[in-house]
Amino acid sequence: MPRFFFVMAAFLTMSSALSSEKPFSFKDTPGKLPKDVVPMDYAIRVVPDIEKLTFSGAETVKLSVRRRVRELMLNALELKIETASVDGKTLPASAIKSDANNELLKLELGSELTTGEHTLELRFTGRINQQGQGLFYMRYQEQGAATRKIMLGSQFEATDARRFFPCWDEPAFRARFQLTAVVPENWLAVSNMPVEDEHKIPNGKEVRFAATPPMPSYLNVFVAGELESVESKSGPTQLRVIATKGKAETSRYALEATAQILQYYNDYFGVAYPLPKLDQIALPGGFGGAMENWGAITYYESKLLFDPYSSSEETKQDIYGVIAHEMAHQWFGDLVTMAWWDNLWLNEGFASWMGSKCTAHFNPQWEVWLRREFPRDPSRRSGIAKEAAMEGDARSTTHPIQQPVATEAEANSAFDDITYKKGQSFLRMLESFLGEDVFRNGIRRYITAHMYSNTTTTDLWNSLSEVSGKPVAEIAAGWITQPGFPLVKVRRAQGSDVSLKQERFTVNFRNPPPLQWKIPITFMVVGQPPGSLLMKSETDTVHDIPADRAFKLNVDGAGNYRVEYDESSWKLLLGALKSLNVADRVNLLSDTWALVQANHVPLARYFELVEKLPASGELAEREQIIHVLDFINRLLSGNAEQPRFHRYARSLLRPSFDAVGWGGRTGEKPATANLRASLIKALGEFDDPQIVAACRERFKAYLADPGSLPPDLRPPIFAIVGRYAKESTWNQLHELGLKTTSVEEKQNYYNALAGAMDPKLAKKTLPIALTDELPTSRALFLVSRVARDSGHPDIAWEFAKANMKMLLAKTDALGANTYVSGLFTFFSDDSRAKELKAYAKNNLPAVSAPHVAKAVDEIQFRSEFKNRLVAQLSVLLNSKTSANSSESSGAIH
Ligand SMILES: [Zn+2]
Repeated sequence: MPRFFFVMAAFLTMSSALSSEKPFSFKDTPGKLPKDVVPMDYAIRVVPDIEKLTFSGAETVKLSVRRRVRELMLNALELKIETASVDGKTLPASAIKSDANNELLKLELGSELTTGEHTLELRFTGRINQQGQGLFYMRYQEQGAATRKIMLGSQFEATDARRFFPCWDEPAFRARFQLTAVVPENWLAVSNMPVEDEHKIPNGKEVRFAATPPMPSYLNVFVAGELESVESKSGPTQLRVIATKGKAETSRYALEATAQILQYYNDYFGVAYPLPKLDQIALPGGFGGAMENWGAITYYESKLLFDPYSSSEETKQDIYGVIAHEMAHQWFGDLVTMAWWDNLWLNEGFASWMGSKCTAHFNPQWEVWLRREFPRDPSRRSGIAKEAAMEGDARSTTHPIQQPVATEAEANSAFDDITYKKGQSFLRMLESFLGEDVFRNGIRRYITAHMYSNTTTTDLWNSLSEVSGKPVAEIAAGWITQPGFPLVKVRRAQGSDVSLKQERFTVNFRNPPPLQWKIPITFMVVGQPPGSLLMKSETDTVHDIPADRAFKLNVDGAGNYRVEYDESSWKLLLGALKSLNVADRVNLLSDTWALVQANHVPLARYFELVEKLPASGELAEREQIIHVLDFINRLLSGNAEQPRFHRYARSLLRPSFDAVGWGGRTGEKPATANLRASLIKALGEFDDPQIVAACRERFKAYLADPGSLPPDLRPPIFAIVGRYAKESTWNQLHELGLKTTSVEEKQNYYNALAGAMDPKLAKKTLPIALTDELPTSRALFLVSRVARDSGHPDIAWEFAKANMKMLLAKTDALGANTYVSGLFTFFSDDSRAKELKAYAKNNLPAVSAPHVAKAVDEIQFRSEFKNRLVAQLSVLLNSKTSANSSESSGAIH
């Protein structure tokens, strides 16, 4: 799932040493539940009470007892167990032991249970939650309806199925699940499998779904409400996109994308999609991401619904990428599941890579690999594709892709950029090293060998090794079990030799333990076909490179390493920029910016590169530059150099904007629409008077006639109008946000409110987070938005501190553990690091520690970097002053 805020329960397990990880074996899989009793089939019946926000349930579980036991141990959380019986014999109440701390339910049997099949029956009651964990409710506005509606949804990954029904809630315990639910008669109920029987009963209807194939408990799903769907069929598979009433038309795009992606995956995996139907469900709240429940994927509404009249190109691309990610999980994650959470990256790294590959295949014009990763969470610092993961991985607070999961804190810290994005980057590097066809054949072998079962990372390496004949496990070891990644230093040696030397690349990290990797290196003499080598030791040499020709490592930037060139190699590269493709130029920009952060090269080197780039309007290239300018701009907030920096930043970006203009031309590339939106927002933030005035004008026209403003221009124009808003404009934006029933539009307006620079308006925006104007899962991130975009992280923090309890009530445990540290990452004063440490000590649980450590590191880094930048910028800007004297005079060449 591409989501970052969810709960992990406490685990009482230890993973074996990673270096000696074995192929999957059920009995050796970590976990706290004994492996002597295995559930085979669950039949679950649930009756929700919408008034009281509770539910009652009953389940019958067929058990296979493999060794005689005197007790049954399974998971349950916040469930009240009414009765329990085994093989028809009711257990006394005293035999039912709930252990809330360990989320366990223990049933003492009185006598020994023999090996073989037995039946467990339980009756229980539980809660319908406000946050997206277990069974939850959402209240939402329906177009034309007088009162707000309510609907139900579920979110079980990683360990919340146990809030819905008692179960063996660990991924290796695969079983068949058959759900029956009672809902109001006018509701549509959805689960993993098609409806098998539906009949009217007093006060509603009872819906029974077909039993699932054997699968982990966390993949169960239940959604119900006044919903409607659009449908189609792809081969034998029934496809539906389901949303709240009145939104069917915005479901068409997702339906078409689903059909296209399904065919691609049926072919890629070599095993056809195994369930009779696939539902894509839009939820108007509850959580912010999407979840790959087998056969019925749930999405936050704006990640699935595309309105051709009001949604932006950016939203369209986002939707496709998220669907492709979630659908990849239907095989990789659902059909074949990681054995334990220490292998979570197998699920998430793979789905991220596969989703990007599929999206890029059908939409080459979107520059998928070069641009920011899908999906983006508005509360997170934006970054470029793998750059966000590499930035985090260079710090002292990073961790290996694969790590033992023994406690809740360790499990939580595994669900992050490293798992998703470094996992994706490593797989991409491995694919390009083994070759696309060989890699795909290895994946086919892996899926066929392990379907309806679980795996470890070793199982994947074995399949890839068998097919490729290469020592994949040996290459992978350094990347999967070590933190960090290498820097490769390029030095022109004697004659036509180029020497390579690797070291660990770090930022803000004193005395890092030295590490080495087996690096699949690609290289090229510019203008010639690329070559490759596997760098196995600290140094290596590339031969036959003409001394006067530009030479580049990491072709297309597909490798997960940085490169530092010596002076003569750098000069040759600068001279050859026109002959490099955009992927290689973006790679040079990103590496150079990283080297500036690491203090290996001065800031001037980055801008030297920017100014020498060919004057093309390539999207990914401009976005990398915008990302850097934006980062510097935030550090300069309130600094005397900021206006001069704004002028310089405008001079770099304005020519690109003048080339794309305000649009309206038919037949332009989608990338042009993305680029225009990015440039308007950036130039507006850098105080370009013409852009700001034009944004205001267009907003005024929009108020009179919404059709006058194309959807792509809405987010940046609202953002700029909001940024410089007076109270009257703020009120207009707020009014629009209150009125719309589209989750996407609503978010655009409230984002604009959050960006207001006027401190009075920031104080007016913040209390909205305590109301129910925004979906619960989004409301508290309004505060993060204010911290990031208004330039007043201090005001946002003061507000959050004073209202912490009410804010945290809107999120789940992980959200609560990361919320405060998240707010602090927008500070760049060392004193705030101390303040956070002190606050954490007195107010935050121990499991927050890794997140606090990351935030402290980020603040300290920004503080140090700010001092360094300001000093270097003054010198740089002095040298630019003469060239910068007029507005939008063009680039400085
Ligand atoms: Zn995922």
